[in-house]
Amino acid sequence: MPLKVVCKKDPTHSRFSVSAHVVELWEVDENADFVEVITTTDTTHRPGPEDHYTCIECDSEAKVELVME
Ligand SMILES: [Zn+2]
Repeated sequence: MPLKVVCKKDPTHSRFSVSAHVVELWEVDENADFVEVITTTDTTHRPGPEDHYTCIECDSEAKVELVME
């Protein structure tokens, strides 16, 4: 079901931050310690309605609405 993320302070805001879970391919040293990210290879969890969204424009919390089709 499509989502609509709405800023609680100003509904005209349309840019939000949210966590996504991704798989990264890393360059490591001889101890397997992190050096740098080579690339992001997969997304294991896309942001959904249960996630916590924050408005990038005003730093307010945002709510998630399910859009009925
Ligand atoms: Zn906002």
